[in-house]
Amino acid sequence: MNCPCCSGKSYEECCKPYHAGEKYAPTAEALMRSRFSAFAIPNGEYLMETTLPEKRKFHNKEDLQEWGEINQWTKLEIIKTPALNQVEFKAYYNDEDGKPQIHHEFSTFKKVDERWYYVSGKFLE
Ligand SMILES: [Zn+2]
Repeated sequence: MNCPCCSGKSYEECCKPYHAGEKYAPTAEALMRSRFSAFAIPNGEYLMETTLPEKRKFHNKEDLQEWGEINQWTKLEIIKTPALNQVEFKAYYNDEDGKPQIHHEFSTFKKVDERWYYVSGKFLE
């Protein structure tokens, strides 16, 4: 299958190795892509694991899993990566009523011991 992150690669050659824990996403953008794919799959566990440990208390694995499940994730668009630890993106999805939605976010990431983590995001528009 094509990778849900819209890289044009197959899932096996793109985000799957990150989800399977075989390797770590080498950049903040790659982590962002793999997190979008994790909503599409969905894989709440991976979403928690890739959140900075001190930020995990603001999230919940079941909620992340459910958010992935109830929506249909259609497209990811990377708008820009102004710094190594910043990614602006638009995530396109259809909500549980089938209505198309766009989640526009400016996310911040942090690298700790060679691993990238999601820190937080600012919602835009
Ligand atoms: Zn991917």
